[in-house]
Amino acid sequence: MNIKKIIAIASAKGGVGKSTITALSALSLSNDFNIGILDADIYGPNQHIIFNIDNLKPEIVQKDSKKYLKPLVSNNIKIASMGSILDDDKAAVWRGPMLSGAIKQLIHSTDWGNLDLLIVDMPPGTGDAYLTVAGELDLDGVILVTTPNRLAINDTIKSIHTFNKLNVPILGFIENMNFPSIATEDIFLDKNIERITQIPFDENIYNMSITNTQNLSDEIKFFLTNIINA
Ligand code: ADP
Repeated sequence: MNIKKIIAIASAKGGVGKSTITALSALSLSNDFNIGILDADIYGPNQHIIFNIDNLKPEIVQKDSKKYLKPLVSNNIKIASMGSILDDDKAAVWRGPMLSGAIKQLIHSTDWGNLDLLIVDMPPGTGDAYLTVAGELDLDGVILVTTPNRLAINDTIKSIHTFNKLNVPILGFIENMNFPSIATEDIFLDKNIERITQIPFDENIYNMSITNTQNLSDEIKFFLTNIINA
């Protein structure tokens, strides 16, 4: 198993588009690279739904007396998500240690094979999941997602503090569902964080026909290709 680069997609606020951007990013690269998605949102996993594989269960394989989960594959992307292991209502009441345990298991028991890039779809918040992911994975960096809304931006600033404390480099931010009201760039430029791209509110994305939206992810593709090749 060899994973060349690992990045996280994060924001402290839910609903700003982390899972969507994770999926768009993976799709933009999957024709040219071996890409994996780790859905670290244990309470509300989405990747199995976005990729329409929610009816599939991962196979278990034995390697050197250890059991591994084979990730599910869609559009040439390997996907590991608690959503395809647990019933929808199971993780909802887990405490922090169980949550961390589940994330560790997904990280260490998935048979990723060789990947150019593993993209970790982070849950909202800044707590246990962040400590676990940053502690267990050697992250090359994080991309923050925000909408141009004061509440979302305020929460994103909290994420910046969290990742600074965890010593995870912030690679840039993506402004999702952009709306010509607030200049996010001014706010993040101040902190030396570059805007990778702006993604408009898009009907195909909203209806989860994300394979029809690849034109929206050209800049993400360019950015991530450079990271893979760095
Ligand atoms: P998060 O992972 O941050 O909770 P999601 O990716 O689940 O956010 O997105 C929240 C909702 O917004 C979903 O219904 C998703 O389809 C929708 N959405 C995200 N980005 C866009 C966009 N650019 N245009 C339209 N709908 C979007």
